[in-house]
Formats: sequence, structure tokens, C-alpha cells
Amino acid sequence: MRTMRIVLATHNQGKVAEIWRMLGERLSGRGAARCKLVSAADLGLPDPVEDGMTFEENALLKARFVARRTGLPCIADDSGLVVDVMGAAPGVLSARWAGVHGDDAANRRLLLAQLEDIPDGKRTARFECRAALVVPQGYDGAKPVEIVRSGKMTGRIVRAPRGTNGFGYDSVFVPDEQPGLPAAGDARPLTCAELTAEQKNAVSHRGKAMRALLEDIQARLF
Ligand code: IMP
Repeated sequence: MRTMRIVLATHNQGKVAEIWRMLGERLSGRGAARCKLVSAADLGLPDPVEDGMTFEENALLKARFVARRTGLPCIADDSGLVVDVMGAAPGVLSARWAGVHGDDAANRRLLLAQLEDIPDGKRTARFECRAALVVPQGYDGAKPVEIVRSGKMTGRIVRAPRGTNGFGYDSVFVPDEQPGLPAAGDARPLTCAELTAEQKNAVSHRGKAMRALLEDIQARLF
């Protein structure tokens, strides 16, 4: 029995673990045993320049970049925060909103300062994710494939960070769907950084997009 390798176009080991868990749940026993998920980092590949104007363009350019170099099916995702009163921002600039890529604390501080005068009722926002599968020309005799799935998580931006889990804007974002709250209770809603990884994953933009994409992967590759 041949093992199928799927490459995840990321250098983030947290993402690899998260997607591997979802893939395992989706494929269960036999399919999962036939499949191995490797990351672009495992293969020593660099990150491409993410210069797309949209989440979809960035997800596709990352997946194409790795699929072309490896000849293997490749998964990539791109995501970010969109705040309603700010138009499409921070959007594709979410990771470097305050100027330095990946400086989460500075990004959160700048966003909270920019929203200081915005009343509670107008602080609505959403996380968006696009997840892409690219199967390159010539892979296993199959036709080339490009599929993009999307997911979103709506909510609002609070006035000060709460919670220590997660990353990015998690501690300033309260999702509308609240998997961590008891059904009947008047507890205050939790930020994403106050949810467990499993709770967040169940309602998150990335969880939704990735679960949809994994259905395609199961249907096309297994
Ligand atoms: P990427 O798609 O993983 O590159 O995410 C881009 C940026 O969007 C991250 O650096 C974060 O600032 C923000 N972001 C995306 N998803 C999340 C999330 O689930 N929680 C908090 N911030 C996020």
C-alpha cells in the first residue's frame, strides 16, 4: 500500500498539528494510515512572497509555489481580520498591521488605539480564511486541480485584551458563536484567547475552511 504525501505550505508547526488532527478525524483509520502530511519547512522550502491583494490570491500563490517545486498535492491557507468600520482592513495586512510582520502585541495595540472612539455597537468584525488545494499537472496521472474553500467567524473587538491562548488578535476578539459558555448562563462572552484550541477550532474561520477542503481532498485523492 502506497503512502500519499500531502504538503502543507507553512513554516508554522502549530498549523501542521492542527490540520493533521482535522485530517485524521476526517479520513479516520484506513485513509489516515495511507496519508502523510509534511510541511514546506520539513522539505527545506522557503516561504514565497505573499503579495496577493486578497486572501484567495495569497492562499493560491502559496499552494502553487510548493506544488510546483515538489510535484505533490499541496494545501495552503491565508487568513486575517476584517473590521467593519475600517473597510477591508487590516485584511491581508493583518500580520504586519503595525509595520513588523508577526508582532502580534504591536498589531493589537494599534488596532485598539484606532478603535478607541468607536462605540460598542459598531465594533463588529470577522476573521476570514481561504484554504487552497493544488494538485500539480502530472501528479499520479491525474488532471491538475485547484480548489479554494472559505470560512469566516463573526464577532466584535473588545476594548482591552483578555486571555492567553491562541495568537494574533485572539485576545481582543469575541466570537458570536460561544462554544465555551454554558447553555443557560449569564457569563460574559469569552474572547478567542479564553477558548481552548478545540473550542476555537469548532467555530473558527480556519476550522470551517479547512474542514470543507478536507472533504474535497477525501473525495478527489482517496
Ligand atoms: P496567516 O493566514 O496565518 O498568515 O494569518 C495572518 C494574520 O492574521 C495573523 O498573523 C494574525 O494576525 C491574523 N489571524 C489570522 N487568523 C487568526 C486567528 O485565528 N486568531 C487571531 N489572529 C488571526
